[in-house]
Order: sequence, then structure tokens, then C-alpha cells
Amino acid sequence: AADFPVAAIRRDFPILHRPVDGNPLVWLDNAATTQKPLAVVESLVDYYLHDNSNVHRGAHALARRATEAYEGARAKVAAFLGAGGPEEVVFVRGTTEAVNLVAGSWGEAEVRAGDEIVLTELEHHANIVPWQQLARRRRATLKVVPIDATGALDLDAFRALLSQRTALVAVTHASNVLGTVPPIREMVALAHRYGARVLVDGAQAVGHFPVDVRALDVDFYVLSGHKMFAPTGIGVLYAKREVLATMGPWQTGGNMIDRVTFGGSTFAGQPHRMEAGTADIAGAVGLGAAVDYLRGLDRERVRAHERHLAEHACRALAEVPGLRLFGAAPGRVAVHSFLVDGTDPVALAAHLDRRGIAVRVGHHCAQPTLAALGEAVTVRASPAFYNTTDEVDALVGAVLEFVAGGVRPGPAAGGRRPGR
Ligand code: PMP
Repeated sequence: AADFPVAAIRRDFPILHRPVDGNPLVWLDNAATTQKPLAVVESLVDYYLHDNSNVHRGAHALARRATEAYEGARAKVAAFLGAGGPEEVVFVRGTTEAVNLVAGSWGEAEVRAGDEIVLTELEHHANIVPWQQLARRRRATLKVVPIDATGALDLDAFRALLSQRTALVAVTHASNVLGTVPPIREMVALAHRYGARVLVDGAQAVGHFPVDVRALDVDFYVLSGHKMFAPTGIGVLYAKREVLATMGPWQTGGNMIDRVTFGGSTFAGQPHRMEAGTADIAGAVGLGAAVDYLRGLDRERVRAHERHLAEHACRALAEVPGLRLFGAAPGRVAVHSFLVDGTDPVALAAHLDRRGIAVRVGHHCAQPTLAALGEAVTVRASPAFYNTTDEVDALVGAVLEFVAGGVRPGPAAGGRRPGR
């Protein structure tokens, strides 16, 4: 909205002022990864300049400072997600690793032959393939909740798929293709009636709106720091205390043990049991700084600004002749997937790139979502709170320019342009 201090916000993100081939950068690839505020970058520099050490070992000052920073970041993440405490937060590499951890630890122990795992047509490959592999190993079956034409989940179908056989429901909190936000709380309540556990993929949610894992009553919540303005290489698995307590080790080695002899080993308590080896300590510190940054914003105003941007984008894109916009479920986050009839999406994205506008083209690691739309690829523009309506206008202007240029699909597009 007009009262959102976007100019001031943008000053927190130095990279947004970087020109690209003489054009101002227009970063509309936030669903792939977000840019980092100066406070996050400085937290990394500060950590490496002053506190760098391994953690939980070594009786010296820097080990104490690094441990304090690392565990402090865990406490910040726990509070940010509304967890019951820091002991419910496991640091991982990202969403992908968190799902693999749950499949490899909880899944191997709890999913039995004949059990069912319920997924949805909105899932990223990271929330499909680990379950597929687990199902194969455990002789379990995958069930899939379909989406409707707007990209909303078919909740009647979801209800019908649930049964005493359901071991797990794995569902995204926001689609990275369509922006759909499923009614997680309602889905959790339904799944719990059958004693199923629920894992929610928060990768595309946490950067857009506040999340309260206890209010949602989810069993597992997973996310990637790099999609919430933190560094790459750090992510989070939240697991309910009583669920995490039953989980055996996933990766093994240093840091996760209690006592080791050649006869056998005993393991540390949670969450350390899940954190074998030296963690990305600086990454955790950076994630803590991103949490501080987000908590310093008025997130209601952030959401209002994003809604304003999304409405502006939908209106402007709809004016482009032949443009088809995918995803219209109410309450979506700002992810705009589109195609322009009669034009090549890869050539379109390349044209946008020449204007300094970063979007993604492809299957977005969600091939089943695209298959449900009857497509193989889309162009995806995904704004964040630091984007402006001027940037959306630049996007739409460049799309119009491309369409007016009459670039046709296929090899002809390449053939027409000199030097290609
Ligand atoms: N889930 C969703 C919804 C995503 O958008 C992504 C990243 N595109 C992932 C999972 C995977 O995240 P990462 O690559 O950081 O592990």
C-alpha cells in the first residue's frame, strides 16, 4: 500500500541498487531465493571476524561465544515459529535436507507396509521424491490431493483420501508455482483424527507471512533460510517435542553422540542427536539476523504491500494480449506464473533478462503441478516486500515489448535474431 516505506526498506538491501548490463536490477525471482539485508551480511562478517570457532567443545572464549551465537540463533528461530522451545528446532541445510531427515529417521521407523502418505499436486519435488523413495523402501503407497482450476486444493478429495492407513500428510504452506496457501490448520485437524502426522513445507511461506507452528498444530515444519532473507546453506526442521523425542539418528558421527566404544554408541538428546558433524554455524547466525530483521518489520503492513503489488501485477499482466496467468486461489501469496500464447517462454525470459528483470522460466521443481495445469513450463515472477509497483510496471512493459516484437516460438525465434 501507499504508506509502506518501500524506499527505506530497499536501502537495507544493497544488491537491489546494482545495475545489470546498464539496467537497474529488477529482482522478481524471490521464490527461487531472496536477497539479503545488510544486517544479515554484516552478521556473517562479524561472526567470522570476531567469534569464529567450533561449538560445544573446547574450553575457550571463542568456543563459548560461537556456541552462544549458534544456540542464540536456535532460540530466535524457535520464537519466530512459535515453537515450544529451542529444543524443537534442528538446523539443517534447507528444506530438502529437512524432508530427507524426516523420511530417513521418522519415516523409516514409523511407516509400515500398506501405510499411506498423502501429498498434494502443489508439492515441490523436495516434498515428493523423498516420500516416493521411502514408500518404495517401506512398501507404502502415495496418495495425491488434486487441485482445481484456480490452484486450490480439493478438500473433499483430501477428506476422502484420509483413513486409518494414513501415516503422514505432507503439504506445502505456499505453492512455489501458483502461490496457493492451503488451509493447513483444518487439514491438520482432519489428519490428526486418523492419528496421521503432518509435515508442512514452509519454504515459500515464512518469507511472506508469520507462522505459528503450535497454533497450526503441525508435527513437522521445514524451511530454507535463503528464501527468508538469510544465507544459503542453512534451514530448519521444527518437530514437536514428543515426536522428535522418539526419533532415532539420521546421519551419525561427531557431535550427536553421548558415548562411543567399538562395541556400540549412545546418542545425545534432541535436537543435537539430529546434528551430526560441524554445522553451518555462521549460516545459523545469519538466519538469526534475518529473523531479527523480519521481526523489526510490521508484518501486517508487509503483507498489505505484497497484496497491493500482487493485485497491481495481476491487473497489469491481464492487459497483455494472449497472456494466461495461472493460479487464482483466494489468499494466495504473490507468485505469478504465466505464458503468452504463441510465444516461447524461454525467449521471453531471455528478453526480460536483457532489460535487467530476473524471473524464472521452467518447471520450478514442481513438474506434477505443471502437469495438473496441462503445461510443462511457465514464466514465474515472484515479488517480495522490497519490490515496487514501478518494478512490476517494468516487467509488464518488457513483456509487452516482447509480444509486440512478434518473437515466435521454437527455432524461428533464435533464427530471426542476428548473431544467435
Ligand atoms: N519447497 C518449496 C515450496 C520450494 O519452493 C523450495 C525451493 N524452490 C523447496 C521446497 C526446496 O528448498 P531448498 O532447495 O532450499 O532445499
